[in-house]
Amino acid sequence: MPVRTAAPQESEARRRRRVQEILKALKARYPDPQIPLAHRAPFELLVATILSAQCTDETVNRVTPELFRRFPGPQALAKAELAAVEELIRPTGFFRQKARAIVECSRRLLAEHGGEVPPDMEALVRLPGVGRKTANVLFAAAEIERWPGWPHTRSRPDGTGIVVDTHVTRLSRRLGLTAEVDPEAIERDLVRLVPPDEWSRFSLRLIYFGREVCTARDPRCAACPLRQLCPSAPYGGFPPWMASPARGGARRGRRTR
Ligand code: SF4
Repeated sequence: MPVRTAAPQESEARRRRRVQEILKALKARYPDPQIPLAHRAPFELLVATILSAQCTDETVNRVTPELFRRFPGPQALAKAELAAVEELIRPTGFFRQKARAIVECSRRLLAEHGGEVPPDMEALVRLPGVGRKTANVLFAAAEIERWPGWPHTRSRPDGTGIVVDTHVTRLSRRLGLTAEVDPEAIERDLVRLVPPDEWSRFSLRLIYFGREVCTARDPRCAACPLRQLCPSAPYGGFPPWMASPARGGARRGRRTR
């Protein structure tokens, strides 16, 4: 049998039906997904999300209690010594860049937004260290936790979208929901397929599912509740359209059944 080198062709209508089934299965498994980064206020989640780049949520959750005890809010963090912040966040990696980003971000919040995190996509992505992923995490948390002054379910403002992190990227590609690799392009594909009132919880459910079942190295296709809906299942989660020859793609991309 010839090895497929591109994702299977599928009509838009069929893909939309498949997405509905995927949403249903994920909702059954994770009825009430919560933001995994510990926080007590928008500012704390903003900082925690900046720290979570290239780092696990567990590590971030280990360092933030002491960080926020020492620097409880943008006023304190804006005046902090960089070296002290670096020391506290060192376990999260890239700690020099991250320390600069969260201190500078705090200063900008004070100078331009009265010390508040603005519920506005354009304003958020202009802050140091903040990209679309971080901003979308805040909008998702606002919706799920019903933050006062922020938009809630079914009223997501223009420009907001779906959180695309490493898990959402991998699963979207394995599930054949996108052929893109760039997070913003993946987000554009996903927002066309997923209803807006599902965006926040959909990305969280994919993140949890990516940690527990469809992991990067050891996807559990045989026991996966999405296997009938997933074009990567016959390849054990390593389909040829995701194989990277430079990283030993030959082992991957082979049908396993
Ligand atoms: S069938 Fe395999 S590749 Fe597809 S979602 Fe499930 S674990 Fe991931």
